[in-house]
Amino acid sequence: MLYDGFGREVNYLRISVTERCNFRCQYCMPEKPFSWKPRENLLSFEELFLFVKVAIDEGVNKIRITGGEPLLRHDLDKFIAMINNHKKGIDLALTSNGFLLARVAKKLADAGLKRVNISLDSLKSDRVHKIAQKDVLKDVLNGIFEAKKQGLKVKLNCVPLKGINDDEVVELLDFAKENGFMIRFIEYMENNHANQSIIGLKSDQIKRIISQKYKFKGIGRQGASPAEIYELEDGYRFGIIDPHKHDFCESCNRIRLNAEGMLIPCLYFDEAMSIKDAVKRGDIKAAAEVLRLVLKNKPEKNRWSEEDNETSARAFYETGG
Ligand code: SAM
Repeated sequence: MLYDGFGREVNYLRISVTERCNFRCQYCMPEKPFSWKPRENLLSFEELFLFVKVAIDEGVNKIRITGGEPLLRHDLDKFIAMINNHKKGIDLALTSNGFLLARVAKKLADAGLKRVNISLDSLKSDRVHKIAQKDVLKDVLNGIFEAKKQGLKVKLNCVPLKGINDDEVVELLDFAKENGFMIRFIEYMENNHANQSIIGLKSDQIKRIISQKYKFKGIGRQGASPAEIYELEDGYRFGIIDPHKHDFCESCNRIRLNAEGMLIPCLYFDEAMSIKDAVKRGDIKAAAEVLRLVLKNKPEKNRWSEEDNETSARAFYETGG
């Protein structure tokens, strides 16, 4: 088992397989002009897998593939199959914007993917167009329903934003409820890469909106998940992720690997160490040592809650959120 310097067990690895994305969500990405890091900097799936094996053998049992948009990387199903074949029973999940999902959901499920979290910020085409800066709603919905058809467990992620989609919170909840998906509302996390005029809704505001239609009770967090779970009277459960609170840092069980091989102990901080040289040499011992050092230096908590409106310099499209 893996433990960090604060005695927290770390069993969850999130891998961002590309920083590139086919959307330009205003809360995540800068507007143009924009240049990506060169493709040659990316680690191959074989190189990423070498580290994944080390992490699994040391105790990681949950892996989420994210991005950028992970489905922009060809042959993602092969990477998933590599992990699935290395050790059965790994909780293998994907976070995607859903745009390309309809075409690959079957291949991903066949390869061993179990769950997919899909971003859905609005059910209105023009709004989705405004948020993502691309006309994508129809394809996203096709992706969501194809994933369900292929037996993947679907969760929806929504970032409620003032004056943009805050009047759709209940509608999105109803959509999720009717279709058997859990929805999690994520508080907007301030960062340097977003459109700086954005104002996100706080957890209390989201709850106030939902309470205008539904009675619900808080049932706490499940395991190390950052989402606070709420239950409606009919038993339907939704979540709210509030990074401005620190209670989930106390049980943080995750580390992040980006597409260039940076191993990142906390979403908030810039500190990270590279596994690139180790995996390029096929040096398992060196990769394990980087893992050990990163865990040792994992910060106690993020800084989003601090008084002076702390902002992270880290791009979510690089780390996968
Ligand atoms: N492209 C995929 C997607 O759209 O889900 C995966 C990457 S995206 C960075 C992962 C998650 O981060 C999404 O659910 C997105 O809504 C969330 N996210 C991105 N920027 C955020 C921000 N500033 N605050 C809160 N959540 C954010």
